[in-house]
Amino acid sequence: MSFTPKSLCIFCGSRNGNDPAFVEEAKKLARAMAEKGIELVYGGGSIGIMGVVAQEVLDHGGRVTGVIPEFLQKHEVGHSNLSELIITDSMHNRKRTMFERSDGFIVLPGGLGTLDETFEIMTWKQLRLHDKPIIILDTKDYWKPFQDLVEATISSGFAHDSARNLFSVAKDANAVFDCLKDIPQVDEKVFTSHL
Ligand code: AMP
Repeated sequence: MSFTPKSLCIFCGSRNGNDPAFVEEAKKLARAMAEKGIELVYGGGSIGIMGVVAQEVLDHGGRVTGVIPEFLQKHEVGHSNLSELIITDSMHNRKRTMFERSDGFIVLPGGLGTLDETFEIMTWKQLRLHDKPIIILDTKDYWKPFQDLVEATISSGFAHDSARNLFSVAKDANAVFDCLKDIPQVDEKVFTSHL
């Protein structure tokens, strides 16, 4: 299945990480999104890779929607210059709004918050609540342990084989757009095989 998204949600770190490649690849992806006219939806902060991708899309003439809960605005320093800033009353409503506003999800290197968001969107797909693409940008093999963990859930009998098709892995920013042209089909058994 191939499609052209109008908007993509990026999950990523509120820190930059300690390898400059994380920020560089994030900037490349953000530039490509702006050039292709794909709106960025993200967590609304101005710090870490979150701030980098937002600023890079804006600097290249793209549209950015930030979604941030009121209580996090001062911690993640809500970005003040976005095309649109949505303030929510909770983390749950933030994630729901990011989900509703996006045609797909790109996961960049990040910390525990990024993991939380990624597992939630993957498990919603496993429950067949949506069928939107999820692409992991695996800069410098950062997400290898994540992929190993998913494989372990399969080999240990806690997930169906098709769970590995819930997401695609892109080795660099350009490959993200190749992945969008070839989204793996997820067998319905991913949900039904254990019922
Ligand atoms: P991090 O990857 O920890 O730098 O966080 C990236 C983003 O995920 C930040 O905007 C966090 O507010 C957000 N996030 C979403 N869910 C959670 C959660 N359960 N715990 C911590 N951060 C979260």
